[in-house]
Amino acid sequence: MTDNDLADTAAAWPQLRIGHGFDVHPWSDDRSRPLVLGGVTFADEVGLAGHSDADVAAHAVADALLSAAGLGDIGQLFPDTDPALAGVDSLTLLAEAASQVRAAGWVVNNVDCTLVLDAPKLAPHRETMCTNLSAAAGGPVRVKGKRTEGLPGLTGGVQGHAVALLTKAEADHE
Ligand code: MG
Repeated sequence: MTDNDLADTAAAWPQLRIGHGFDVHPWSDDRSRPLVLGGVTFADEVGLAGHSDADVAAHAVADALLSAAGLGDIGQLFPDTDPALAGVDSLTLLAEAASQVRAAGWVVNNVDCTLVLDAPKLAPHRETMCTNLSAAAGGPVRVKGKRTEGLPGLTGGVQGHAVALLTKAEADHE
């Protein structure tokens, strides 16, 4: 495929945008911090350190959406130096990011999110996480978990990865 072919392909599909999001938070030393993933609070589990509730799923999804729409990233929108955001429910940040994406004329086609961690098991809460994230993102979000396989660099916290596909809103089609 030549550069011209690639340009033709981009011109033929101007209404699609893909975005990638990544986030990581380390395990917290504060035993009183709850673990929150995809808006689900895991009772009796060690939480993640962070200015907000450290929900890496919500953060990765928000970054994927913002990036796809060319609207920057979650750090620009919600600085972790803002005292008003201390301990904030990250689903509200995701909802605000999604609102800005919609205001820019985009529809969330779908988002796929992967969380990297060994414990706790996500399966019992997976559908609730998907429901929470989908409601906040305004489009279908799927979540899956992957183990670290004991790799040293991966065991110190939880990583969230997400890809989002946006479609230009119908009214903006030429
Ligand atoms: Mg984060």
